[in-house]
Amino acid sequence: MNKKRVALVTGSTTGIGLSIASRFAAMGYDVAINSFEPEQTVSAALHAVAASGATVRYFQSDLAESGGGFELVGDVIAAFGQLDILVNNAGIQKVAPIEEFPPQDWHRIVAISLDSAFHTIRAALPGMTTRGWGRIINIASAHGLRASPFKSAYVATKHAVVGLTKTVALETAEKGVTVNAICPGYVWTPLVAAQVADQARVHGMSEEQVMRDVLLAPQPTRQFVQPEEIAEMAAYLCGDLARSITGSAISIDGGWTAK
Ligand code: NAD
Repeated sequence: MNKKRVALVTGSTTGIGLSIASRFAAMGYDVAINSFEPEQTVSAALHAVAASGATVRYFQSDLAESGGGFELVGDVIAAFGQLDILVNNAGIQKVAPIEEFPPQDWHRIVAISLDSAFHTIRAALPGMTTRGWGRIINIASAHGLRASPFKSAYVATKHAVVGLTKTVALETAEKGVTVNAICPGYVWTPLVAAQVADQARVHGMSEEQVMRDVLLAPQPTRQFVQPEEIAEMAAYLCGDLARSITGSAISIDGGWTAK
């Protein structure tokens, strides 16, 4: 490798994405971070990721917009010259029974987690296959492998992300590019904190009961996964010794999907 690897992590100014971006920066990669967050959140994230001395740039992009992911990758390549590692991490959640599920929320969840991954992959692959090296990591979920009530759009989208991952892995298997999904169980991040009130409403529980009987109940360890655990797996997948791991849906879920 005669040039630094360049990595893009979508949705990376908070939570899991921020942890992955920080890990990549510590590995010496040039890192592109992205989100759709207020200025204060963005500058805190830039500061955190740059702490290891890596080159970090922020790219604002609304991935709910059709083609937003394609433009984002184009902007990153224009700024850094190439893109070697793509992590599709941006995502949102909505908790509601299907009869009450607002169609606009359905479309937004599909657009941000699934459509944008299609567009970023489409834009990133030509350079990766030309150079014969690339890593694509899609942050799916335990909900890409198992369902829970009141999360129709999220569960459907994350299952689709796992399907997209396997398909692209087959298409790139001989081209030096690996494509994998990481499927976390519950990780305490803003995305999870924001759903506790809705979970309490639809389940008819207190917020304390939601924590114990909804969020931690499916995880036999009874503990939240830490964002750093996801970041460490992403770092491993970027290594040359991970070259034979492709098309996998890797669970980090405290035993959830063992059941
Ligand atoms: P988070 O809310 O901290 O991060 C989500 C990120 O997505 C934020 O940076 C946000 O700005 C970005 N984003 C949202 N809408 C966007 C848009 N329109 N355009 C661009 N960026 C946008 O939550 P998190 O828990 O760190 O989630 C990260 C990923 O991990 C998501 O795909 C989520 O589904 C997945 N995941 C989370 C958990 C969990 O328990 N936290 C479990 C499994 C999977």
